[in-house]
Amino acid sequence: MFCSQMEEDGRPMMTIAGQAHICFPCMEVLNKHMFLSPNKGDMAARRILELISETHPEVVPQDKVDLSPLLEVQTRKLDELPTPEQMHRMLDSYVIGQDLAKRTLCVAVYNHYLRLRQKATKDDTEIEKSNILLAGSTGSGKTLLAKTLARILDVPFCIVDATTLTEAGYVGEDVENIVLRLLQAADMNVAKAERGIIYVDEIDKIGRKTQNVSITRDVSGEGVQQALLKIVEGTECNIPPKGGRKHPNENYIRVNTENILFICGGAFVGLEDIIRKRLGASSMGFASIEEDRNAKEYTEEEVLSKAMPEDFFLFGMIPELMGRLPIFAPLTTLTEEQLMQLLTEPKNALVKQYAKLLSMNGVKLHVEEGALRAMARQAIERGTGARALRSIFERIMLDIMYCVPSDKSITGVTLTENAVLGKAQPKITRSNKKK
Ligand code: ADP
Repeated sequence: MFCSQMEEDGRPMMTIAGQAHICFPCMEVLNKHMFLSPNKGDMAARRILELISETHPEVVPQDKVDLSPLLEVQTRKLDELPTPEQMHRMLDSYVIGQDLAKRTLCVAVYNHYLRLRQKATKDDTEIEKSNILLAGSTGSGKTLLAKTLARILDVPFCIVDATTLTEAGYVGEDVENIVLRLLQAADMNVAKAERGIIYVDEIDKIGRKTQNVSITRDVSGEGVQQALLKIVEGTECNIPPKGGRKHPNENYIRVNTENILFICGGAFVGLEDIIRKRLGASSMGFASIEEDRNAKEYTEEEVLSKAMPEDFFLFGMIPELMGRLPIFAPLTTLTEEQLMQLLTEPKNALVKQYAKLLSMNGVKLHVEEGALRAMARQAIERGTGARALRSIFERIMLDIMYCVPSDKSITGVTLTENAVLGKAQPKITRSNKKK
């Protein structure tokens, strides 16, 4: 099974139990064998060690068959980890604006993966896990940022909606099922999933409903936050391979969430006002006029960057959960200019996508600046950020996409401001020759 190649031959090697070595291609072959059946996840590591102990009995202590050697795979890969600056630049190709959030995220994610490396070196200093909280209005790019980062880092990623979760024993999804989602995203490879990223959306919607401590249990809000605590902090979970409720006779997959990075996102509507109020109040009476003036003139990003845990308590977030999300990255509402950029600049910009689709029928798409601006304005009016932009653009393109494939004389389409405002049709150019 093992190819007898050496690291000197140029093959990157993974070290098992500190002594035996296996190259990545062989590891892949092994993996394939191990994962033919979905719930064999953490059996794989055991099996690899067993196989090695068969061929090299002297190097694998018989009593020490555990998952930890697989950590070393992670450290090897970490050498290829992009720096925060490189990550930032890569994010720029997909996400418009949100500079502060990008910087904060890139540094936090980089440190997170450094932490994994440090853990494998058995150094004394313990670097704590730094999960991240993203706050910003809907459609400002929270999910997109998390998703793009996972893609850049090539780690498994999943999105879960906090509102669908309930604490164990109630109707709804058990909190542990979010780890199952990540496991599925990692093709049931436990070692891979254990260094993945989970994005928990709508975290602000599971706030405690009242500020008072209730004697009855708060199933939907605080209970879920409590249930999330352990998983977010890092624990061994028993995951039912098929999801749903746990059954006593089921074989669970054990996943350790200690190295899984949690990014929680929420709109936290009104957060800016709460912080402004606090900033204003703190400067009243005591601080200089200068400080008071600043409180009013802060931009949205500046205000949000001053968020403190207590501001989130007002949304019903419990202090324990906030304590486990120590990194805070604020996102701002996208401006008109940014929404216009969003339509044309990112790698998968909507205009680029439609231009590509039309070009397959030999048709050129041109979108005038006035049209871009009109669409951005409509999106702002709807108040759902970039989300609205997509539906606005797609509505306008629908008729064009309907006609073009059957009308072979069309060679070009120009979207004008009036076309967006519904006052005119898009300009169509035709050739005399039939295509
Ligand atoms: P939310 O902040 O609500 O999580 P999403 O990240 O899901 O928002 O964004 C919704 C849609 O808008 C996605 O299709 C995404 O591609 C686009 N979008 C939102 N913000 C940005 C941005 N800053 N840059 C590029 N696209 C964005």
